[in-house]
Amino acid sequence: MEDHIEKILFTAHQISERITELASEITLNFSPYTITNNEEALLSSNSSWAAPVVVGVATGAFLFLADLVRKIKLPISVDFVRVESYGSGTVSSGKPKISCDLKIDVTGKHVILVEDIVDTGNTLSCLIKHLKSKGASSISVCTLLDKPSKRKVNFELVGEGKFYCGFECPDYFVVGYGLDFAELYRNLPYVGILKPEMYS
Ligand code: 5GP
Ligand code: MG
Ligand code: MG
Repeated sequence: MEDHIEKILFTAHQISERITELASEITLNFSPYTITNNEEALLSSNSSWAAPVVVGVATGAFLFLADLVRKIKLPISVDFVRVESYGSGTVSSGKPKISCDLKIDVTGKHVILVEDIVDTGNTLSCLIKHLKSKGASSISVCTLLDKPSKRKVNFELVGEGKFYCGFECPDYFVVGYGLDFAELYRNLPYVGILKPEMYS
């Protein structure tokens, strides 16, 4: 399988280190504690604190989500949605469809959407509208990769929601660490570029 890869863009080690940083940011931003003089003090507004719901976009986000949530030091819930837009090709259909909805009720909850990669923005825009209509009180996005040069649709975060991004990705079709070509290569521990002859 390794010989199908032209170039490694992000190694397993780089990914792991970056996830540690993202998880610390998320832990800090969603913490019900303030940390003063090395003592953790509960915020006075703690009575309204609700565990964030981390929602992975299946299938691509499964490894990223698994590694990320293990480094978040807060009680959280985990759920998945399934969105289809790519089929087996390398060009987005531009019409994402939610083919499997959440199990958890997100009304009044802080949602963190976890994606493998943001490309045109169609998938996130569709999902954010959907979660907003369900009454999520904030919607953040945490994506491993972002290809800002490919953006066609701008999505708006909801409430206090923030955008967390692992790495900016150059404009190649990438595979590995959850990302597939025709449902293959998701199990590579790194993100890389597939050799052109593998597409045919
Ligand atoms: P968007 O809706 O933003 O155009 O695309 C989002 C989805 O398209 C991602 O969640 C991912 O599944 C797929 N995608 C976009 N770019 C790539 C890429 O370079 N490689 C792979 N394997 N999937 C991609
Ligand atoms: Mg995805
Ligand atoms: Mg795919």
